[in-house]
Amino acid sequence: MTVSPNSSVSPVHIIGGGLAGSEAAWQIAQAGVPVILHEMRGVPGVKTDAHQTDGLAELVCSNSFRSDDWEHNAVGLLHAEMRALDSIIMACGDVNQVPAGGALAVDRDAFSAAVTAKLAAHPLITIVREEIAGLPPQEWDNVIVATGPLTSPALAEAILKATGEESLSFFDAIAPIVHADSIDFDIAWCQSRYDKEGPGGDAAAYVNCPMDKPQYEAFIDALLNGPKAEFKDWEHVPYFDGCLPIEVMAERGRETLRHGPMKPVGLTNPRDPLVKAYAIVQLRQDNALGTLFNMVGFQTKLKHGIQAETFRMIPGLQNAQFARLGGLHRNTYLNSPQLLDKQLRLKAMPRLRFAGQVTGVEGYVESAAMGLLTGRLAAAQALGRDLAAPPPETAMGALVEHITGGHLEGSKFQPMNINYGLLPPLEAPKVDEEGKKIPLKERGRAKKRLMSIRAMESLKAWRDDHTGALA
Ligand SMILES: Cc1cc2nc3c(=O)[nH]c(=O)nc-3n(C[C@H](O)[C@H](O)[C@H](O)COP(=O)(O)OP(=O)(O)OC[C@H]3O[C@@H](n4cnc5c(N)ncnc54)[C@H](O)[C@@H]3O)c2cc1C
Repeated sequence: MTVSPNSSVSPVHIIGGGLAGSEAAWQIAQAGVPVILHEMRGVPGVKTDAHQTDGLAELVCSNSFRSDDWEHNAVGLLHAEMRALDSIIMACGDVNQVPAGGALAVDRDAFSAAVTAKLAAHPLITIVREEIAGLPPQEWDNVIVATGPLTSPALAEAILKATGEESLSFFDAIAPIVHADSIDFDIAWCQSRYDKEGPGGDAAAYVNCPMDKPQYEAFIDALLNGPKAEFKDWEHVPYFDGCLPIEVMAERGRETLRHGPMKPVGLTNPRDPLVKAYAIVQLRQDNALGTLFNMVGFQTKLKHGIQAETFRMIPGLQNAQFARLGGLHRNTYLNSPQLLDKQLRLKAMPRLRFAGQVTGVEGYVESAAMGLLTGRLAAAQALGRDLAAPPPETAMGALVEHITGGHLEGSKFQPMNINYGLLPPLEAPKVDEEGKKIPLKERGRAKKRLMSIRAMESLKAWRDDHTGALA
């Protein structure tokens, strides 16, 4: 990309200077298109409930961008893709990293200061400290909304009015999601309760994991004793019964879960038809590819560190790999599959593009990646060029697929971290490049590597193809 200004081009407006907005601003300006970045922090008396500073790209909680292993970890792959696309977030993260083993963690203040300084110094970027408290003025014809999970109430209200009641979620009740190929089908079996064939379902739509009484009792003990994340004052969730965390259900009585999400009725274990399970955990397909399954009714405030260990107590999930752990927290996000086109524009108002966590991705890196992409798409539009999102076998393309329709139709759209289950599947290789047999337990890792290599090749081809579109 080039930085020579294109004087005939009108500016792109970005609302929100967090991870996504900062990355988008950089990408657009590097393409030679002027940017006006509107950030409300810095205006006296205006703040969010989580940010502590006026710095751009502030990290609101942990200081980690998670694994940096591009060959075997999907978020590491996203890092690599972003580095290949001149990401300011990755460049400033790399320069300001602190020791964190295989993860990329950063000095949060130095990182935010570096992003702020680079953007402020860019000749094509103007930073305006103001809240955009409603839909942007009509004359802004190329806008990126990157206002994050804590979008200011006035703007959220305006978006809600423009898109309709069902379009904006404010809470995430997240049940853990498991990679289908890590479920032990020598123990679990597929069956819908009472063999019912619902709309879009079949008589074997659910994966069932049976428990006997001692296993159930041990599991309840683990739920009751496990450390829980506290709600922040501003996060207090009015619990309603369809959405109780499982450990809260367990606190109401040791049998409650057996009469709720773990009820064993209407299901028969084909391996042991005469023995009734004491409790059954059900998993439901979560993405159109069929590579991910969510644990039905298992939203939880158990701390992340203990979740995998606790849920691996469930027979059939003893080796489960989690694409996402559970949670329950405030998160403003769009029903993107209904509302956004593949350019991440609001179908009903295409002058507005959305980026970051508000689109229904989850995490710092994912938010920044969607900022990077929308930045490039908005710059191409400003220059009158055609540009499509990268293909779905890239981590970035897979995220776009997820938020614009890759989740299972009919299910509630829920935010997602990047994970290999979002990419089109590949067969696990049985032999390595030299023809040597790969041991069974190493094949999953080998498959991830192949998927990462495929992603990087595809991403670079996409980048090289469209360099002309942005030059
Ligand atoms: C409490 C909390 C903790 C989190 N912890 C983590 C974590 O540890 N690790 C992780 O990977 N992810 C975490 N996330 C999720 C997510 O990755 C971050 O929220 C991330 O910052 C999202 O990036 P973003 O650019 O979409 O939004 P943000 O980084 O929040 O940026 C949005 C920006 O828009 C501004 N803004 C909002 N409304 C307006 C308006 N009307 N006008 C102008 N400006 C506006 C805000 O001030 C903010 O600067 C957390 C989220 C929350 C809410």
